[in-house]
Amino acid sequence: MRPARALIDLDALRSNFRLARELGGGRKTLAAVKADAYGHGAVACARALDGEADAFGVACIEEALELRAAGISGPILLLEGFFDADELPLIVQHKLWFAVAAPWQVDAVEAFQTDATLQIWLKLDSGMHRLGLAPAEFRAAHARLSALPQVAPMVLMSHMARADELDSPRTREQADLFAATIEGLAGETSLCNSPALLGWPDVRSDWVRPGLMLYGANPLAAHNAYTERLRPVMTMQSKIFATREIAAGEPVGYGARFVAERPTRVGVVALGYADGYPQFAPNGTPVQIDGQPGHLIGRVSMDMLTVDLTDLPQAGVGSTVTLWGDAPRLDVLAPLCKVSAYQLPCAVKRVARVLSG
Ligand code: PLP
Repeated sequence: MRPARALIDLDALRSNFRLARELGGGRKTLAAVKADAYGHGAVACARALDGEADAFGVACIEEALELRAAGISGPILLLEGFFDADELPLIVQHKLWFAVAAPWQVDAVEAFQTDATLQIWLKLDSGMHRLGLAPAEFRAAHARLSALPQVAPMVLMSHMARADELDSPRTREQADLFAATIEGLAGETSLCNSPALLGWPDVRSDWVRPGLMLYGANPLAAHNAYTERLRPVMTMQSKIFATREIAAGEPVGYGARFVAERPTRVGVVALGYADGYPQFAPNGTPVQIDGQPGHLIGRVSMDMLTVDLTDLPQAGVGSTVTLWGDAPRLDVLAPLCKVSAYQLPCAVKRVARVLSG
């Protein structure tokens, strides 16, 4: 079998989750497992956190139903609500929680007849300007929905747009607008994603909603005492399955993007951009080869990439190459490749997952 593997360390996931809970002040913690747990496997990750997480967050009903089918029976929140009012019966049937984040969703909930209790997270647009009710609409929507007998006390939420930028006043402004808008309204609150948890210790609410940090990547540009405690959950690995020697002046791969300056031994690794590795990772991008530091040479192909073995005489066919994990870390690799640490694991596919912990 092709040796490309994503090793998933569920102990690391639990450790990161506990860090998020600690940073949230022990408050209720929703684990964002949308997008197949950012590429780590939603079912495995939710099972690993079942009994610890107070809720799971997903992007759509399809993702929620996958978790229900796998036996996750606790609260699951549809972070974006529903995309069509037709989903509401299914939401009720599977006891899902859902965000209400647009005026038409308020209308749809009002028009929906049910004997069941609806658990709504009412979302304020406090400055991200993507989803959420405008401050001027929020209190009226709260009044309309609170008046419905089928609506349980709501959670009041908002989402931070720039919490990874510690020198921007925007996070504080968003938190202030949230506090002012919800003043006097009944309901638990929820504000913090991973960068807010890791970077803004004084911005807190009843519920925290970590995503990226659960998977061990730091969303901030620099490390602090908390980000140092994050443990990478995914290790992307494959093996060298061919080698060759080339003379100085010879190119490697598509576009001759690498030209050898010295006699060079090239290792060919069974993993490429179709597996989720960034196609335009530059020459010199760090990898680990049998636990030794090495680097990429040449452009990444669809199914293969090439590494420099010249200074690693022990390495050869069968050597293990780590593309990301403990080293290089996802949050170090991503900026080198001009992608985000969010995007990289989400793009992983065609790679067998191997669970541990
Ligand atoms: N809450 C909401 C509403 C989200 O959309 C997301 C992710 O985009 C999260 C929480 C988790 O964010 P992060 O991965 O930055 O922790």
